[in-house]
Amino acid sequence: MKRYALVTGASRGIGRAIAVELAKDGCSILLNYKSNHAAAEETLRLIEATGGEAELMPFDVSQPDAVNAALDKWFSAHPDEYIDVLVNNAGIVDDEIMLLMEPEQWHRVIDVNLNGFFYCTRRVIEGMVENHHGRIVNISSIAGQKGHPGQVNYAAAKASLIGATKALATELATKQVTVNAVSPGLVETDMAEKVAEYLPERMRDINSIPMRRLGKPEEVAYLVSFLCSNRADYISGQVIGINGAAL
Ligand code: NAP
Repeated sequence: MKRYALVTGASRGIGRAIAVELAKDGCSILLNYKSNHAAAEETLRLIEATGGEAELMPFDVSQPDAVNAALDKWFSAHPDEYIDVLVNNAGIVDDEIMLLMEPEQWHRVIDVNLNGFFYCTRRVIEGMVENHHGRIVNISSIAGQKGHPGQVNYAAAKASLIGATKALATELATKQVTVNAVSPGLVETDMAEKVAEYLPERMRDINSIPMRRLGKPEEVAYLVSFLCSNRADYISGQVIGINGAAL
């Protein structure tokens, strides 16, 4: 039986690296993204180049009808199969200090980073529970543990993901479904460039990270790969930081 892994936000950055790594582990990847088709095709090409398998599954994680439509279609086409691995990675930032933050900025960031987790997970866990096996990894952030200026919306979403991870882990523990959060520090992606533009000078300084460098998407992917393996059967409800000793 094939092992299917849905990775949200897999067209670029951390999600792409996770999709490539899980494909190397033998998973058939459901490669979600919002709209960057060219980037998603490149991830698909990278997966196929190493002998892996993936299919594109574009939808906006913040739109419950779109999430359900895409997943309903997949489940109808695969009546005897289920999604064993779910990596809730899709995320955005929309930075602004609280004094100037518009309600739309608050809602947009919560919708994608937090509500997206709910919509995707709600639809996928039934299969995991029925099959008594599953892996859920939620990509949180050091921002949800530490707090950075200009990111009240993002910090709220990422901290909430940690609470949701811990609660869901207890609900699914007897079903052999593990739920963990991975919490990266700054990682070399398009998002990091966007965030760096906003950070005050002192926080942009690479010396503020004890290891004196940003993380690489592949380094996050190795951790996710481990958490999704059977070597991590007894790890659930945890928040695992990957941040060069920055926290
Ligand atoms: P990124 O390079 O900006 O890529 C974002 C990915 O999410 C893209 O694949 C994008 O799809 C997808 N996406 C955005 N909105 C979406 C939506 N509404 N529905 C579906 N997909 C959507 O980001 P990244 O740096 O790899 O970040 C990945 C995750 O790690 C995020 O949750 C982020 O918060 C977290 N994180 C990142 C850092 C960092 O320093 N980079 C640090 C800590 C945590 P399109 O290509 O179609 O736009």
